[in-house]
Amino acid sequence: MPTRREKITEMLERTEYPLTADDICRDLDIKDKSIVYEDINHISKSIKNMSKELLVQPARCGNCDFVFKVKGSAKRPSKCPQCKGQWIISPGYLIRPRK
Ligand SMILES: [Zn+2]
Repeated sequence: MPTRREKITEMLERTEYPLTADDICRDLDIKDKSIVYEDINHISKSIKNMSKELLVQPARCGNCDFVFKVKGSAKRPSKCPQCKGQWIISPGYLIRPRK
C-alpha cells in the first residue's frame, strides 16, 4: 500500500492542472488541510533527489487579484495585504521532471 505522501506525489505528477489542498483532501478523504500542506512541504524536499520539482501556482486574492509570493512554505495565506480581503484563491501544485 502506498503511503499518503506517495499518493499525493502521484496525484501531483499525473495532474494536468495544478491541484489545491482542497482537491487533494477531497480525493484522498483527508479531513485536515494542514496535513496536506505539511505533506507538500515534505514532498517538495524529498523529490529534489529524484530530478523532479514542485511547481506552485501562487495563491491569489479573489478580490483585487493580488498574487502572493511563494515563500517556500505551502501554507495558504489568510488575508490580502493589499485590500485586506479574505477571499483567497488557494495555491495549486504540480510535480514535473526538473529540466
Ligand atoms: Zn486583495
